[in-house]
Amino acid sequence: MATVTLDNLRKEFDNGRIVAVDGVSLDVEDGEFVTVVGPSGCGKSTTLRMLAGLESPTSGTIEIDGEDVTDVHARRRDVAMVFQNYALYPHKTVRQNMAFGLRMSTDLSKAEREERVRETAEMMDIEELLNDRPNELSGGQKQRVALGRAIVREPNVFLFDEPLSNLDAKLRTTMRTEIQRLQNELDITAIYVTHDQEEAMTMGDRIAILNDGVLQQTGAPTEVYRNP
Ligand code: ADP
Ligand code: ADP
Repeated sequence: MATVTLDNLRKEFDNGRIVAVDGVSLDVEDGEFVTVVGPSGCGKSTTLRMLAGLESPTSGTIEIDGEDVTDVHARRRDVAMVFQNYALYPHKTVRQNMAFGLRMSTDLSKAEREERVRETAEMMDIEELLNDRPNELSGGQKQRVALGRAIVREPNVFLFDEPLSNLDAKLRTTMRTEIQRLQNELDITAIYVTHDQEEAMTMGDRIAILNDGVLQQTGAPTEVYRNP
């Protein structure tokens, strides 16, 4: 668990012709689950990618647990990201997909890594899939594996980039419940991005509304979406 502080975060593309993120400031408390909601193109992914270290901000700072990580390489940041398209390594088995991130980001021995993968696979109910490769899995199974790969590292911060968008309605409900269970059991600090207002209503302790790269409002779901 950790706190996350974004201070006046800005990201330009094409020499400033595109301003994807336009001065976003946000404080996320220890164990808080914040949902960032807004239409396609409003800067959600870019914000998360900067948090993950996959994109450098044009200006502004990112702190995790009070430490400035703005210039810290992605591999050295204690965050895990779950993507809409799963982003599993296609040639690796489920076990290898889960163990790879552990190898990159921790100093665990091989035996300890194997034990962590086994425990997490059990928790996510994917033990039977450990020897399969991603192309042998259904969409729902892939997303369970992607979640497992994030959890196994026990990161301080979880980042979710529209993780349910590619799933059908029934699976979406299942996975939503699954993420809520993780939220409750592991008490994770998370930033969850979605374009779906209804999803945002049910997922977060707090909702942040992003529009055109600007955070317009943050508050509890009931404050942000008041009945007219
Ligand atoms: P969202 O995740 O909310 O759909 P994005 O963060 O993906 O929004 O994109 C925000 C804006 O930045 C959009 O106008 C998008 O076209 C632009 N953008 C994102 N990535 C790049 C890039 N690598 N090069 C140029 N423009 C980009
Ligand atoms: P490339 O460098 O060609 O994008 P990678 O195999 O490194 O290919 O990454 C494929 C996708 O997986 C990318 O979207 C990348 O951001 C994502 N990715 C890379 N490393 C990790 C990781 N440790 N955990 C989750 N996703 C990752």
